Amino acid sequence: MLIGHERQKNIFKNILLNNSLLNSYLFTGNEGVGKKFFATELARSALCKDDSFFEECFCSSCRLAASGNHPDIRIVDDESIKIDSVREFIADAHISPYYGKYKFYIINNAHTMTREAANSFLKTLEEPSDTTVFILVTHRQAKLLPTIRSRCVEMKFGRLTFDQLYNILNNKGYNSDDIEKAISLASGSAATSINLLEGDLKLDNQRKMDSLENLIYDVLSIKSRDDLKNYAFSLYINVLDNYKNSYEQKFLYFLDDILRVIKYLEYNVNLEMLKMSLISKMGEVLREET
Ligand SMILES: [Zn+2]
Repeated sequence: MLIGHERQKNIFKNILLNNSLLNSYLFTGNEGVGKKFFATELARSALCKDDSFFEECFCSSCRLAASGNHPDIRIVDDESIKIDSVREFIADAHISPYYGKYKFYIINNAHTMTREAANSFLKTLEEPSDTTVFILVTHRQAKLLPTIRSRCVEMKFGRLTFDQLYNILNNKGYNSDDIEKAISLASGSAATSINLLEGDLKLDNQRKMDSLENLIYDVLSIKSRDDLKNYAFSLYINVLDNYKNSYEQKFLYFLDDILRVIKYLEYNVNLEMLKMSLISKMGEVLREET
């Protein structure tokens, strides 16, 4: 169920009613506000057998879409989009839709396309087919090739309001105190709120600030960028909870350091380097606490 973004919903409802979907869209706006989810809902709506646009539907096509197995909806969600994956979906784009009247390609984090991949993709955008719809999703549109941007119709997505975020998180079954705390830290992003809630719920005794050695061991055993991100979020919450009334400068600096690690995870900074940097900051701040 899509919550928020009413303006965009109305625009696309009209487009679908008039059969005037274009070949390429660019969805922009802050990270985590639901652009990719909106793109999948748009694809589902356009392919729906009952024309139930953005509403819950159990037709055969919507059920396929909900299971993530619709043959006419492809989502590219690589950490970095390389030429091989672009070639693969371009080849597929020349085949007519399997099941519905369109074929959708949702390219998440389109700004991570390599230059080679972007140039190859540009050729496809220049020769659009009637039945293919590309939706590029990004929170960093300045990093896209200008020639790609100019061939897409841009749709901006704003931050979600408190009530909209509350509904999204409440539907996912989180408890209301935790939800309010997460929203206050998440600046309008559903993805960030969920990260915060997940991080918090995953906290166990070992992860609490019981000993620096345990913390270092936890960080060293992290194997992926996502895991480090979740860990850093839970650490952030933990420090905030435990030390927010101490007013000590070093904890405020530590919170900034943690946020910096989370931010660098978005760039191509080496994972091991970020782990080491987090460990050294932990050492500085927590040595005398433990
Ligand atoms: Zn349907």
